[in-house]
Amino acid sequence: MKEPFRREELSPCIHTKNIYALLDLGKRDAMYNFLSTHEKKCVRCSSQLQKYKEENLAAKVFIPKPFMPKDLRETFSGELAELFRVAGLNEIENQKKKIKAGLLSLDHLGETYINNLFSKNMIRVYAFALIAFIGLRFLT
Ligand SMILES: [Zn+2]
Repeated sequence: MKEPFRREELSPCIHTKNIYALLDLGKRDAMYNFLSTHEKKCVRCSSQLQKYKEENLAAKVFIPKPFMPKDLRETFSGELAELFRVAGLNEIENQKKKIKAGLLSLDHLGETYINNLFSKNMIRVYAFALIAFIGLRFLT
């Protein structure tokens, strides 16, 4: 039982206070590589890291998950949605509106295009082009 306490009394190491970073850093991080290599060689840092790991696990196990009654949860999410709507924070809704407006304008453009294809002026142009085509065909 006294073994860990004796370990604590080993020579101090300047990296011990940073060893917790091994729990957060990505494995590709240069600092992670340095601390990881160091931790394997340093008894003090290794012991401290083990302590952090245990505390981290304990925190995950013992932190209670908040319980909210169903009606309160519904009221809360309703009010949150309303707040987002009023403040214009709902990105998805805004994007949906933009997409809908874009599609409507495309639809309108398409309608205008089709209407123009069959407008009186275009029918005159088609008639002229047909006469010109037939005329050129028989004249040449
Ligand atoms: Zn160390």
